[in-house]
Amino acid sequence: MSPPIVQLEQVRKHYEMGPVVVEALRGVSFVIQPGEYVSIMGPSGCGKSTLLNVLGCLDRPTSGRYWLGGQDVSALDDDALSAIRGSRLGFVFQSYNLIPQLTVLENIEVPLFYQGWPEDRSRERARQMAERVGLGHRLHHRPYELSGGQQQRVAIARALVNDPLLILADEPTGNLDSASGREILELFDELHAQGKTLILVTHDPGVADRAQRTLRMRDGLVESDVRKTAPVTVPTA
Ligand code: ADP
Ligand code: MG
Repeated sequence: MSPPIVQLEQVRKHYEMGPVVVEALRGVSFVIQPGEYVSIMGPSGCGKSTLLNVLGCLDRPTSGRYWLGGQDVSALDDDALSAIRGSRLGFVFQSYNLIPQLTVLENIEVPLFYQGWPEDRSRERARQMAERVGLGHRLHHRPYELSGGQQQRVAIARALVNDPLLILADEPTGNLDSASGREILELFDELHAQGKTLILVTHDPGVADRAQRTLRMRDGLVESDVRKTAPVTVPTA
């Protein structure tokens, strides 16, 4: 059996601000299995971004353990964390974070460049990902020539290009109008249907509702962890 994608055990994260210690995470534990689509909700300041930074190997817990795909990543050094981000994780941010000077194709190729893929293979892989998100006809455009929704689709293609174990999205529809936001959520639904594991942070209940499971945070703790149950069909005689 494959290991859980995510296993957190009593993860704490403290920030020292002079004499003051901010406890952003106060003992968070949960497990996410392959193929789950999980949303994380909670009021501003409750620790969502801190948790996403730990899950995304952008930051280490102060204490507690984090296994990603069965590997203990809680105490790895910066270089090892960076290698894991490049090979095992895909990120989608509210502000797209594309490189303005690069074309669609080149932006999607960035993670493969860092992994040392040969150019012809990475070009082909990036082209496939562009097509997968419906941008096969925009390969040589630059971000400023695209709508917000198209830019976010480039970011999703970039997040998929290294075939990550886990996709992390932080308010991915936060900058989009409702129609473009809906398209992005439909794309996430498709990825989920294809077996991808997704974690999405949002303050929007309508967005969170797309996921099969919602973790609600408060004051650095997971306050509730609710899975949707499949609707029950009552047979009609
Ligand atoms: P959320 O994303 O839910 O709004 P955050 O994870 O950003 O919450 O923040 C949780 C708490 O940790 C807040 O009290 C915030 O001020 C504090 N915090 C977050 N990042 C830092 C940091 N780099 N240094 C000091 N305090 C921080
Ligand atoms: Mg935040």
